[in-house]
Amino acid sequence: MSQEFLPMPDENGYFGEYGGQIIPPELKAIMDDINDAYESIRDTDAYKDELNDLFIHYVGRPSPIFHAKRLSDKIGGAQIFLKREDLNHTGAHKINHCLGEALLAKHMGKTKVLAETGAGQHGVALATACALAGIECEIHMGEVDIEKEHPNVTKMKILGCTLVPVSRGTRTLKDAVDSAFEEYLKDPVNFFYAIGSVVGPHPFPKMVRDFQSIVGKEARRQFMEMQGKLPDIAMACVGGGSNAIGLFTPFIPDESVELIGVEPAGKGLDTPDNAATLTLGSKGALHGFECYNLQDDDGNPLPVYSIASGLDYPGVGPQHCYLKDIKRVQYVAVDDKECLDAFMVLSRTEGIIPALESAHAVAYAMKIAGNMPPDKNILINLSGRGDKDADFVAEKLSL
Ligand SMILES: *Cc1c(COP(=O)(O)O)cnc(C)c1O
Repeated sequence: MSQEFLPMPDENGYFGEYGGQIIPPELKAIMDDINDAYESIRDTDAYKDELNDLFIHYVGRPSPIFHAKRLSDKIGGAQIFLKREDLNHTGAHKINHCLGEALLAKHMGKTKVLAETGAGQHGVALATACALAGIECEIHMGEVDIEKEHPNVTKMKILGCTLVPVSRGTRTLKDAVDSAFEEYLKDPVNFFYAIGSVVGPHPFPKMVRDFQSIVGKEARRQFMEMQGKLPDIAMACVGGGSNAIGLFTPFIPDESVELIGVEPAGKGLDTPDNAATLTLGSKGALHGFECYNLQDDDGNPLPVYSIASGLDYPGVGPQHCYLKDIKRVQYVAVDDKECLDAFMVLSRTEGIIPALESAHAVAYAMKIAGNMPPDKNILINLSGRGDKDADFVAEKLSL
C-alpha cells in the first residue's frame, strides 16, 4: 500500500484532485521559489541537524506516550494512550512546523514572517520561533479570538511580535487569514507567509506535513517499544489537519492501523454552527488550494463555528480530502457538549487538562472504547494543553 502514498503530492502540489496552487501567476512564482528552497535544503545535514537539535533541546522532544489507565478503566474497554504534544515548549504541536518554517524563512533571507492565528496557538508558536531565529514577526488575529484567548495574546506581545486585530466578517480565523494574506501581497518577495496548518497553496501542505511527521515517527517507534505491536486505532482532531496528518503519516502504510480524524460538530451537524468540513463539505477552492469546503451556493466560505478556536476553519488540508476519498482515514465529528465532557473527564481521571481542540479526539475515543475489547489499543494525539481554555471552561460550566 505504501507506494500509493509516498509520492504525494505530485509536482504541481496535488493530492489526487486536491491541493495545487489556485493563485495568481506572480504568487505562483514565489511559491515555487519556496518549494525549490525547501527541496534544496530539506535533506541537507546542516538543516536537518539544526532542526533536530532544536526539537530535542528546545521543544523537549521526543514527547512521551502516556497510557491513560484510569481513563481506560473508567470506560471499560480498549486501552487509551496519549501522545503528549501538550508537553512541548509552548504547549502544542504547532511549534514543530513553526520552527521548520522560521528556519526556512531565515535561510531564504526573508525580512518578515507573517501569519494568522485562531486559538492563538499558532501565533505564540510562531512568535516563539521567530524570536529564536531573530526574524520580525506579524500576527493577524480575529477580535473574537483575541477576546477569548487573552493569555496567548499577552504572550505574543511579550515575545515581541506585532499583533494586528481583525474586525471584519465573523472576526475569527477565516477573516484573519484574509487580512494576513493582504499584508503578505504587499511584498511577497521579502515576506514569508507561515501558514499554520497543512492548508494553503503548494508547497505548504507538504512542508507542514513533513515538519509534523516527527509526531507519528516517534509515536510509531515508542508504541512498538511499549506494547510490542502497533496501535489498533490512531486518532486526532482535525481543524486544518496538521496534528492529525503528523500522527497519521508514518501509519498510513500500516493497513492494520485504523486512522480516525475527529472534526468539530459544534452545536450540532444539523445546525449552521459547526466546522465539520470533511463530514458536511463539498469540493471547492479556498485560500489558494482545492479541498472540501463549507460553502454557500456561490462558493463563498460559510461562517463556521467550534467551541475550540483552533478548529473553526471552513476548509481542510488537501491530503485529508484525498485520504477521505480513498477511505484510508475515517472522519467523524463530536459536538461541544461531548468535547467539554471529555475535557473534564480527562482532567479529573488523569490530571491532564487538554486543549479543547484535543478534547474532541479524546471524546471520540471515549465514545468507541467501551465497545472494544481491553486488549485493543487506541492512540490519541493530544495536540495541546488546556491552560488557554481553563477560564473559558470554568465559566461555561459554572465551576
Ligand atoms: C491549532 C490547533 C489544532 C488544530 O490545528 P490542526 O492543524 O488541525 O492540527 C489542534 N489542537 C491544538 C492544540 C491546536 O493549537
